[in-house]
Amino acid sequence: MENFALNTLDSLKIIQSEFDSYQNNYFPKRTPEFFCLELNGEAGELANAEKKLWKGKNVENSLLEDEAADVFIALMNYSNSRKINLGEAVKEKLIKIEEKRRFLAKSGEDY
Ligand SMILES: [Mg+2]
Repeated sequence: MENFALNTLDSLKIIQSEFDSYQNNYFPKRTPEFFCLELNGEAGELANAEKKLWKGKNVENSLLEDEAADVFIALMNYSNSRKINLGEAVKEKLIKIEEKRRFLAKSGEDY
């Protein structure tokens, strides 16, 4: 993983903090369990839109954007409710993924 990509994740800490302030200032206090259910509900809405596309139905791109935004917001709220530093967690995960990708690449395997 290039340093550029990992350093970019530092910005996520600021974004996550802004979501925390917004949520705390304007919305009722919710439990991590609530946000986890909300996250999965929103992911399900996104999956349903993709399923419609897959079946050949017309789905506006704006619906996919809207549902993807819901997933992102729900993930921010869930992470804040569990005090997860998402930028750091993603960095650590990307490092592990890259280590595995490079290991597999040595033997000509795809990740
Ligand atoms: Mg939604």
